[in-house]
Amino acid sequence: MTPLELEIRRIVAAEGPMPVSRFMALCLGHPLHGYYVTRDPFGASGDFITAPEISQMFGELIGLWAAAVWEQMGAPRRIRLIELGPGRGTLMADALRATKLAPGFQAAVRVHLVETSPVLRRHQKGMLAGSNMPIVWHGDLAEIPEGPAIVVTNEFLDALPIEQLVRTERGWHQRMIGVGTDGRLAFALHPEAMPGGQSIVPESQGEAPVGAVLELRSDRLITEISARLLASGGAALVIDYGHVESGAGETLQAVAQHRFVGVLETPGEADLTAHVDFAALSRAAVRAGARVHGPLRQGEFLRRLGIETRAERLLRQATPSQAADIRAAVRRLTGSGPNEMGDLFKVIAIAAPGLGPLPGLEEAVV
Ligand code: SAH
Repeated sequence: MTPLELEIRRIVAAEGPMPVSRFMALCLGHPLHGYYVTRDPFGASGDFITAPEISQMFGELIGLWAAAVWEQMGAPRRIRLIELGPGRGTLMADALRATKLAPGFQAAVRVHLVETSPVLRRHQKGMLAGSNMPIVWHGDLAEIPEGPAIVVTNEFLDALPIEQLVRTERGWHQRMIGVGTDGRLAFALHPEAMPGGQSIVPESQGEAPVGAVLELRSDRLITEISARLLASGGAALVIDYGHVESGAGETLQAVAQHRFVGVLETPGEADLTAHVDFAALSRAAVRAGARVHGPLRQGEFLRRLGIETRAERLLRQATPSQAADIRAAVRRLTGSGPNEMGDLFKVIAIAAPGLGPLPGLEEAVV
């Protein structure tokens, strides 16, 4: 039994079963035993691999995207470049290196990293030491002073807690985690249907069949980002895996050492994520008064930003084995196969309404 499972059992014994959102928040962020708090999960020897860890091209193209948006904003003298959940700091390191070629941008940039994990903060410091840029770390977006900003975030929203609701004959019930009759952690339903449940559930889901599962994620972060961009200008680029239309379905999953494991099996020792509902995200941004660009599939976005040209340039100086790696990386990042990210991952940008079409997102084709 993991140390966190012991802790969860103690809470359940004292307070009764807990909602999925609390379980997820504890698994990922418990101050002593949380998954991200205790380890560096990335890379071939870790639990999973993300786009910036696959190839430097990913961060470089995002850096050039940020510089182009900054120019489109009228090249303000100061710009906050904010990354949420920077992992090992690879995306930011690649982005800053690539933007050395953008005159004025580097001089204007102040880098802000929002990261709760002390282990990953250390990694980020090491990774970015050579950039010679002013960098400040924060535990929460709200700590960052206002001012024009470009926000980037990759595979961060999928780690924010979700609530699961299950349809019964009596309405929508919150899914809970407690201890089953066999003494192991088990899912259960809250005995009461949610009061006002129908108003929480999107209208399209009203007629969902008994047994349907719905996942809801708080709008708080998107509302906060939108308010910031509206007040001071700028844009946010959100990249994650997920779906472009809201719908019933269970996507909560646990991954350890590149394999799926049971969600309740090893609390705190597996990564827990759930798909991002890009339609819900767009609705929240629009409700807050922002403009939404996209969503677009990651593969199409990276092609529009010029990943093929960038790959060709790298291929010119590559050894045969490096060349094979570069070609494989382009396929992994842009391909539409089941183990490729090009279709599964989506890109959306949120911006102040005044900003015109953004690079790569001029025309939405999902
Ligand atoms: N963007 C990186 C890492 C994605 S993993 C990449 O693409 O490789 C998620 C990241 O978000 C990790 O750095 C994790 O420590 C951080 N994180 C998770 N929950 C967080 C929270 N609530 N606040 C801030 N950072 C968080």
